[in-house]
Amino acid sequence: MKISDSETIEMSEMQYRFWEQKKLAELSHEEWELLCDHCGKCCLHKVEDDESGKIYFTCVACKLYDLESGGCRDYEHRAQIVPDCIVLTAGKLDEINGLPRTCAYRLLHEGKALPVWHPLVSGSVKTVREAGMNIQGFAIAEQEINLKHIKGFVLDSDL
Ligand code: SF4
Ligand code: SF4
Repeated sequence: MKISDSETIEMSEMQYRFWEQKKLAELSHEEWELLCDHCGKCCLHKVEDDESGKIYFTCVACKLYDLESGGCRDYEHRAQIVPDCIVLTAGKLDEINGLPRTCAYRLLHEGKALPVWHPLVSGSVKTVREAGMNIQGFAIAEQEINLKHIKGFVLDSDL
């Protein structure tokens, strides 16, 4: 996810409700990017259980995540700088394991509606914070820990 340029969403985007009119694969690049709620949850390190394959989220944010402004410091080059970064496309959604339950792409892929706090529904990016959905309130920076001990930072609850 990248840092949002604006606190409000264009009314035309909301009125059209493109995410209900089109399949994910049919979205324009701009529409695809608008779907991201900027929660930052996908920018947290995850740990996979070797036996069950279950993914657990940690409270440790990727080294490129800006915990102050909330977003990727180099969205354009993220895949080169962080090879583990998930660069989402509609075609990959079937195979990606580990997107948070509230992720807009995952919700729509599973045939669910966007939540009321999603900026495209509420009209404001502030509602993500107000609903406690972004990671800025609890995440710590990767640079502050030794990643060898990442398992000690697994969150109690799913995201
Ligand atoms: S979890 Fe989904 S909605 Fe949230 S920042 Fe990542 S891609 Fe965007
Ligand atoms: S590089 Fe890191 S901060 Fe940037 S989008 Fe990927 S996971 Fe998030």
